[in-house]
Amino acid sequence: MGSSCKEQESKKCVFWVQGPILVGAGPSGLAVSACLARQGVPCLVLEKSDCIASLWQQRTYDRLKLHLPKQFCQLPFMDFPEDFPKYPTKHQFISYMESYASHFSIKPRFNQAVQNAQFDSGSGLWRVKTQVADYISRWLIVATGENAEPAIPEILGLDKFHGPVVHTSGYKSGSEFRNQKVLVIGCGNSGMEVSLDLCRHNAAPHMVVRNTVHVLPREILGFSTFGIAMSLLKWLPLKVVDKILLLASSLTLGNTEQLGLRRPKTGPIELKNATGKTPVLDVGALSQIRSGKIKITETVKEITRNGAKFMDGQEKEFDSIILATGYKSNVPTWLKSCDFFTKDGMPRREFPEGWKGENGLYTVGFTRRGLLGTASDAHKIAKHISDQWRIMNKETNTCSSNNSSHIILLQKSLLHP
Ligand SMILES: Cc1cc2nc3c(=O)[nH]c(=O)nc-3n(C[C@H](O)[C@H](O)[C@H](O)COP(=O)(O)OP(=O)(O)OC[C@H]3O[C@@H](n4cnc5c(N)ncnc54)[C@H](O)[C@@H]3O)c2cc1C
Repeated sequence: MGSSCKEQESKKCVFWVQGPILVGAGPSGLAVSACLARQGVPCLVLEKSDCIASLWQQRTYDRLKLHLPKQFCQLPFMDFPEDFPKYPTKHQFISYMESYASHFSIKPRFNQAVQNAQFDSGSGLWRVKTQVADYISRWLIVATGENAEPAIPEILGLDKFHGPVVHTSGYKSGSEFRNQKVLVIGCGNSGMEVSLDLCRHNAAPHMVVRNTVHVLPREILGFSTFGIAMSLLKWLPLKVVDKILLLASSLTLGNTEQLGLRRPKTGPIELKNATGKTPVLDVGALSQIRSGKIKITETVKEITRNGAKFMDGQEKEFDSIILATGYKSNVPTWLKSCDFFTKDGMPRREFPEGWKGENGLYTVGFTRRGLLGTASDAHKIAKHISDQWRIMNKETNTCSSNNSSHIILLQKSLLHP
């Protein structure tokens, strides 16, 4: 941003952005930005943190690897390097993202959290406010992710606990919990992987399993379970594919119900599509549960100063608590007067219809289908905007795809303070 608009100035700058304003520089934001660049459409990327892919760089644990094979996680127009393993580590994924941003010359404006975005029906334009400036554009692309904020349920007595309480977004490694008795609340992929990591660092995890959960092997006979499911779905109905997955799981993993992990009545893919609840892909936690190193516990009734009381009346002491309770979208906190999103911050329309709203509003990365869904959204959004961009370019002959000149300072104080 120009030196005339420094943060310390009391008056905010207002900028006209010729291309779209894109909120969020995670994988989804980068993917759309790259697709737009391919079509010659510049965009302004606003990112609240100080780096790209901040979820991966700042809010994930050290031992994290991609849950799905790399071919299902690559972004448009650039594959993972061939020498990357089938399941890249988080550090490899971050390095891929950095190469991606630099290859497509994506330069987000960092440390700019969008606080408010609103469509003005009078002018037909979006006005987007950060703490630094206001931006105006015809198009707004929401790429703030399904995992923007930790979801922390109300748990009676949690504030009374004497030891550390950490959400998985703040958990780095089990080395900080060596020899501790740790209560892990939640049994999704994060809860299972954190429990496994704790075992490897000589801690004693007790994992709370409140709901039913589908655990599937990550691979069946050397082939990714996700890949097998994707292939089968091309030929067979979803319910049949679910039955095949459950049969293969029981043959490879045995009866998980005997370990205290009850399966939902609905099949794993049907459930994922209907509720977004991802099946757990086992990377070793199950054998630790079987050997008793990860203990499965009842639902927590109440957290006490020294531990927890459970629904079955038992009481246990713990040194630390880890909340593997998932994430939530933050869209309702900043996108105003817009009923395209539910109160939970997810598009009302489901995949594959959820990428486009009214009045130049687009969303990417809210498909509950991970990075595959992101790639699909990104192509559609870029095509839709670039078609409009070309028509406007022809009509006015003023739009420029030159990245440096597409953001124009309108004035140094707010139009409407
Ligand atoms: C632990 C974990 C492992 C996963 N593994 C896989 C996997 O293997 N394969 C797969 O396909 N999917 C996986 N996912 C799911 C999903 O693909 C990733 O979460 C992915 O990072 C989503 O990308 P995104 O850009 O949509 O969201 P995010 O990565 O969350 O990026 C959103 C960006 O928006 C920024 N932002 C938020 N609010 C604002 C605001 N108001 N103003 C400005 N910026 C804002 C954030 O700082 C962030 O940088 C995983 C998710 C998690 C949590």
